[in-house]
Amino acid sequence: MRLQLLAVLLAVAGPALAQDGAPVGAPVGAEAQGGGPSPEPVVVLRPARVFDGVEPRPHAGWVVVVRGERISAAGPAAQVAVPSGARVIDLPGQTLMPGLIEGHSHLLLHPYDRTSWDDQVLREPEALRVARATVHARDTLHAGFTTVRDLGSEGAGYADVGLKAAIERGIVPGPRMLVAGPALVASGSYGPKGFAAAVPQGAEEADGEDALVRAVRRQIGGGADVVKVYADYRWRAGEDSRPTYTQAELRRVVEVAASAGRPVVAHASTPEGMRRAALAGVVTIEHGNAGTPEVFRLMRERKVAFCPTLAATDAIRRYRGWNGAAPEPAEIAEKRRSFRAALQAGVTLCMGGDVGVYAHGENAREMALMVDYGMAPAQVLIAATSGNARIFGLADRGAVRPGLLADLVAVDGDPVRDIAAVRNVRWVMKGGQVVRGPGAPVAGPGEP
Ligand SMILES: [Zn+2]
Repeated sequence: MRLQLLAVLLAVAGPALAQDGAPVGAPVGAEAQGGGPSPEPVVVLRPARVFDGVEPRPHAGWVVVVRGERISAAGPAAQVAVPSGARVIDLPGQTLMPGLIEGHSHLLLHPYDRTSWDDQVLREPEALRVARATVHARDTLHAGFTTVRDLGSEGAGYADVGLKAAIERGIVPGPRMLVAGPALVASGSYGPKGFAAAVPQGAEEADGEDALVRAVRRQIGGGADVVKVYADYRWRAGEDSRPTYTQAELRRVVEVAASAGRPVVAHASTPEGMRRAALAGVVTIEHGNAGTPEVFRLMRERKVAFCPTLAATDAIRRYRGWNGAAPEPAEIAEKRRSFRAALQAGVTLCMGGDVGVYAHGENAREMALMVDYGMAPAQVLIAATSGNARIFGLADRGAVRPGLLADLVAVDGDPVRDIAAVRNVRWVMKGGQVVRGPGAPVAGPGEP
C-alpha cells in the first residue's frame, strides 16, 4: 500500500515541479529523500466530511493523511491506515476541501472606492503598492485561497514577479501565484487617460506584430507565467468598449507565447473582442459582459474557458451607491444574462472575480454570485478547485487525492448545501504547513 502511494506521489511530483520552476524555499518533499525511513511529519485530518474537488457529493467520515508537503492518503476512516506517531488535527463539524484557486486577482490593486484606479497607478509609489500587496497576499491565503492567477500588475511593472518570489521563499505569507507581469494593451486604448500630457499606463503598450512579438518575449523573460492582452476596451471614458487588437495581432501573441509554453488570457467584454480572442487561441476570456449565445458557442468549440468576474461588476455598482435592491442596474442585468448564456452554451466556467476591485480575502464573493446567477454550489466548488487547476495546467493541486500538494482548507458547515459556508474558513494548510487554525504555529513578536 505504501509503495503504491509512493509511486503515485512520484508520478505526480515530477511534472508538477517542472511546471512551477525551481521550488525555491519549498519544504523538502519525500521524493527528494530517497530510500529509508521518512523523517517527514505526518498529519491526520479528521473533518466531518471531505469535499474532494472532483465529486459533487461530500464524503462523510473521511480522513486525510498528509506526509510532508503532500497528501498521502484519503478515504473512509476504517480503510485508511493511520501511521503511528502521526499528529491528529480534529476539524469537528467542518468540511475539508482542496485549497481554493482564484482565477483572476490583482494583488497590487485595492478597492477603487478608497483610492481611484487612476490614483493607484499615478500617485502611489511602487513600494507602497508592494507593501500593501503583502497584506493582500496574507489575507488571500487566510481566506482559503492557496493559489491565485494574478492577471496584471496594473502599472507596477514586474512587482508581481517579486511578490511571488517573496512568498515562495517564505519571506511573506501568501498563496502560490501565477503572474502576468505588466500585461499588453493597444496604444491609446487603456488608462489612465484624459490628461494633457502622456502619463504612465496601467499596462504595456505594444502594437503591430513585430512590436508585440518583442513585448511578449520581454514579459515572459521578465517572469510572466501567463500573457494577458486586452482585446477590447473603452477608447474614451464613458463610452462602450470596442475591439483593440486585430485578429492577426492576437494570433501572433498566442503563437509566440505558446512557443515559450505560456498561455494567453484575454480581457474582452464585446462579442467581437471575445470572438477574435477565441479564434486566436487564448485559454480564458475575462469578463465577457456582452457575450452572446453565438460567441459562447464558439468558445465551447474552441475549448476557451470563461472567467465571468461577476463580483467586480457587483462591487463597482455597490460602491457607486447600489444597495443590492431591485431594480438591478443595467450592468448587473447584463452580467446575469451573459452568465446564463455561457452556462447554456456549455462553456467551461473559471472561478475568478477580479479581486482587488473589491477587498482581498473576500474572494468568495464571486462564488456566492455564481450560485446566485444560476450555477449549482457543487459545480462552483469544482470550478474553484479541480476546474481552475485543469484550466491553468496545475496538475499538482485542486483535489484531495494522494500525491497532490497538501493545499487544504476547512470551513464550518457544508458549502454544497450553502455556498456561504466558504466564507467560514476555520483552518488553512499550504504545502503541508498549517497557516491558520488548529496546528498553526504561534506567531512570535513582530510576525504576522
Ligand atoms: Zn482584472
